[in-house]
Amino acid sequence: MITHTAKPTDAIIIGGGPVGSYAALNLAKLGVKVTVFEEHPEIGLPSHCAGHLSIRSLRNIGLYPLPKGIVENTFTTANFYSPYRTKFSLHLSRPVTTALNRALFDNYIADQAKAAGAQFVLETRVQSLIKANGFVKGINIQRNDQKEEEVYSKVTLDAEGVSSRLLRQAGLTALNPKGLVYAVEAEVENVKDVESNAVEVYFGKAYAPGFYGWLIPKLDGTAKVGLATNKGNPHEFLRALMTKHPVASKQLGKAKIIKMGYHSITLGGPIEKTYANGFLAIGDCASQVKPSTGGGVIFGLTCAKIASQTVNEALQKGDVSAEILRIYQKRCSDLLNFDFSVMLRLRSFLDSLSDEKVDQMLRVCRKLGVDKALNDVDEIDFQGKLMLKILGKPSMLTAMAYFALLYLSAKP
Ligand SMILES: Cc1cc2nc3c(=O)[nH]c(=O)nc-3n(C[C@H](O)[C@H](O)[C@H](O)COP(=O)(O)OP(=O)(O)OC[C@H]3O[C@@H](n4cnc5c(N)ncnc54)[C@H](O)[C@@H]3O)c2cc1C
Repeated sequence: MITHTAKPTDAIIIGGGPVGSYAALNLAKLGVKVTVFEEHPEIGLPSHCAGHLSIRSLRNIGLYPLPKGIVENTFTTANFYSPYRTKFSLHLSRPVTTALNRALFDNYIADQAKAAGAQFVLETRVQSLIKANGFVKGINIQRNDQKEEEVYSKVTLDAEGVSSRLLRQAGLTALNPKGLVYAVEAEVENVKDVESNAVEVYFGKAYAPGFYGWLIPKLDGTAKVGLATNKGNPHEFLRALMTKHPVASKQLGKAKIIKMGYHSITLGGPIEKTYANGFLAIGDCASQVKPSTGGGVIFGLTCAKIASQTVNEALQKGDVSAEILRIYQKRCSDLLNFDFSVMLRLRSFLDSLSDEKVDQMLRVCRKLGVDKALNDVDEIDFQGKLMLKILGKPSMLTAMAYFALLYLSAKP
């Protein structure tokens, strides 16, 4: 049921995306009175995400298995294509990733949060933060009837997503636009020649400069297709991918787009400071997103849980100053910073490669049997730790040495 009147609350959450709702769930479970403010009339809509997530990570945060209907497919295989048709396939011994219906997934988390006692106020936009004596004390909201209201709380968690408009008001630095790519995601039908258990990844500067394109098949025969780019119009690049890419055009040349959406992805790594007096930033607005793939759900949820624990401790101490809330950032950094630094390097490596070098790289992966070295991998989120784990395999060492050379030759 939609509630339209905010009750007194200990914690405010700005944004009812997966990260805001998961923070609400964790806070409510800890007994904290929490209210989520979401500007849209429905949780999960509009959806702009491919919902491609690691099964193991979902399981680790208590969100897998999921109820029927949310899971659209699971995958054992990823096929990578150069713009010259070279293909490198990674076959894993069991399903490692899943595609979720993001709207249903977001609602699932929000429903759990409501059941645990969190309050959701929909169709209500947070216009600005209320500050006094250097502390964030609450928010100014505007409801869909244009009525404005002030809401006070002991602590505010910002989960507003990539727009990150309110961060600056808390004295934090907004996302660096240089780290943003512009994405388009479409649902399509009439797709040809795809394996139902494989995700397709397309490289090429003419199709997705600064990122890559993807195709994620669903079991009902439709697929999610998308790409991101650091320049130009994503819609035009999508048209080029679907009609001109030597592999994607064979699969998508006759496909019909059922719906389409645009949104930015932040690839710059976590923002420098995620806390202030009475305030924490979580999820996309803190750029807790994998710079290599743009996946933000798992790291956002992971940090939301840490934020909830820290907020609960701060509330119990009666001290929500930056001095106490900084523990949140330390805990997130201890867990994720190594992986972030590896993924930032990986992103910069991929960005540095010409189409020819991407083609060469896929050929070398194939030749060295990199797929065999990765066959038993079941973790794709913590890519720094994964790298350490697989480096012991001879083919991976050779491949890494080759990639390092490729990187150096691309960046003189
Ligand atoms: C095309 C595309 C594909 C993607 N694919 C994947 C993928 O396959 N896997 C993956 O892990 N990640 C993917 N991502 C990234 C993923 O979508 C985000 O990391 C994730 O949604 C972040 O969750 P969040 O809750 O932080 O932000 P969001 O999901 O953006 O939620 C923010 C919420 O805050 C609300 N809001 C904003 N401002 C206000 C305000 N002032 N007042 C009230 N409400 C407000 C918004 O309406 C929204 O509901 C993709 C992103 C894009 C663009």
